Amino acid sequence: RGVDNMSVVDIDSPPAKSTAKNLVYKTRRSFETGVTKSLTFRKKQLNNLLKFLKDYEDDICTAMYKDLRKSRHESLVTEIEFAANGVRHLLANLDEFSKPEKAEKDLAYFFDDLYIHKDPYGVVLVIGAWNYPLSLCLGPLAGAIAAGNAVILKPSELAPEVSLLLDTYLNKYLDKECYPVYVGGVAETSELLEEKFDYIFFTGSTNTGKIVYKAANRYLTPVTLELGGKSPVYIDDNVDIFITAKRILWAKLTNVGQTCVAPDYILCSKTTQEKIIKACEQVLKEMLPNGARESQDYGRIISKRHFRRLVNLLQNQKVAIGGAIDEKDLFIEPTILTDVSINDDVMKEEIFGPILPIVNVNNVDEAISFINSREKPLALYVFSKTRKITELFLEKTSSGGVCINDCLMHITPHSLPFGGVGASGMGMYHGKYSFDTFVHKKGVMLRNFHALPEKLQSLRYPPFTKTKTNM
Ligand code: NAD
Repeated sequence: RGVDNMSVVDIDSPPAKSTAKNLVYKTRRSFETGVTKSLTFRKKQLNNLLKFLKDYEDDICTAMYKDLRKSRHESLVTEIEFAANGVRHLLANLDEFSKPEKAEKDLAYFFDDLYIHKDPYGVVLVIGAWNYPLSLCLGPLAGAIAAGNAVILKPSELAPEVSLLLDTYLNKYLDKECYPVYVGGVAETSELLEEKFDYIFFTGSTNTGKIVYKAANRYLTPVTLELGGKSPVYIDDNVDIFITAKRILWAKLTNVGQTCVAPDYILCSKTTQEKIIKACEQVLKEMLPNGARESQDYGRIISKRHFRRLVNLLQNQKVAIGGAIDEKDLFIEPTILTDVSINDDVMKEEIFGPILPIVNVNNVDEAISFINSREKPLALYVFSKTRKITELFLEKTSSGGVCINDCLMHITPHSLPFGGVGASGMGMYHGKYSFDTFVHKKGVMLRNFHALPEKLQSLRYPPFTKTKTNM
C-alpha cells in the first residue's frame, strides 16, 4: 500500500527535530517553493487521498471501533465515504473553482479587465476533534490542498488509534514536506499555536475555540472555528409523530449522540411529549431489537471523563426511556428525559451523548424566545407541516444551519455551507465553500497604455485646475 511519494521538495533546513517550530519552518519552506500551487500537483494529492481511504478502509474501520466502538457501517458512511465524497467533489470541480473570476464592471472601467485571483493563504493549521476523527481532519485538509496551501494536520489525541493511523500512513500518500501530520494533545497543540500560520481551521469545543482565536489574534491569522453547542428540536403538534421520532432518534443514536449537530433537546407541548415518547419506544424497539447494549450498531462514550459528565446530567431527572449505564463498558443507554426544567444542568451545557431532554413549551413564540435567550446553536431542527411556522423559526432565530423535518441531513449536500454562528463558530466549509475558505480572493485590475483611456483618466492628475474640479 502507498504511492510513490518521494517529496518533490528538497528542504535545506536545520536537522529536523520534530518540534512544532521546526515543523512550521519546514512546511513554510515547502510552500515557498510554489509546488503546492500547481494544479497537477494538487490533483495528484487529492487522488492519493482517495487512494489512502480505499487502501486503508479496513484499518480505518478497526481504528474507529477501537476508539469509539463505531460500527463498520457508521465508519464507512459518516467517515470514509463522507470524506471521500468531499474529495471527489473538489477534484471534479477544481479547474472551475480555481479559475480567476471575472468581476462585473461599469462604463468607467470599459477599457480595463477586472477579475478575482485566488491565492492560497500559505501554511494552514488544521486541528481536528475526536468524534469524527477522520472526516473532520480530511475534510478541511482536502479543501486546503485543493486551494493550493501547505498544511499541518493535528488530529485529536482522544481518538488515539485513528490519530496513529493518520500519522503512520497518510504521508505515504501525501507529500511529506507539504502536508505533515503532527500528533499530540493540549501541550503539542499549544506549541503549534505559538507559531505563525496563514490560516487556522479548528474543529472542537467553544472553550478551546476561544483559545485558538486568541492565539490566532497574535498574528492576525484568519480562522475558521467549527464549534459546538446545544442544537434544539422543535416539534409541532401536527407532525407525523412516528417519522419524526425515527429521524430524531437516528440522529441521536449516530455516534451515540457525540455529534456536533446532534439534536440536543426537544421543545414541544405536553400533548406532543406524550406522543413522541410512545413513538420513540416503538422506534427504539425497531432500531435496536435486542437492546442498545447488545447491538453491534450502538457505540460507546469516548472516555471515562465524558461518561461521568453525562451520568451527572442524569441526576434528579425524570427518565421516560432508558437510563441504564455501565461505567466499565462506557455504555449509556439511549435516554429520554421528560418535564425537564430550563434551569437543570442538562440544559446548561452541550450534552454530546445519548441523552435527550424534553422541555415543554406552550406555543411557537415560547419556543422561539427560549432558543433566542441562549447561545446561537450550530443546528436548528423544526418538525412541522405548517410552512408559516417553519418560516417563523427561519426569520426569528439565528443558527449555523437549519434542517426542517429531519436532523443532520442538511450537512450532506455539497451545495450547502456548513458552519456555526456566534458561540457555535465562524466560517464555513463543504463543497465549494471548502475551497473558498482556504483562498484569499485578490481583486485585480488590469489596465493598458492606450491613448484614449489615458486621456479620459487624466482628470486625476494635478495640477487641479478649476476646470478639472468643476467637471
Ligand atoms: P476539544 O476542544 O477538547 O478538542 C479539539 C482539539 O483541540 C483537539 O485536537 C485537542 O487536542 C485540541 N485542544 C484541546 N484543548 C486544547 C487547549 N487547551 N489548547 C490547545 N488545543 C487544545 O473538542 P473535542 O472534545 O475534541 O470535540 C468535541 C467538541 O467539538 C464538541 O463541542 C462538538 O460540538 C465540537 N465539534 C464541532 C464540530 C463542527 O463541525 N462544528 C464537529 C465536531 C465536534
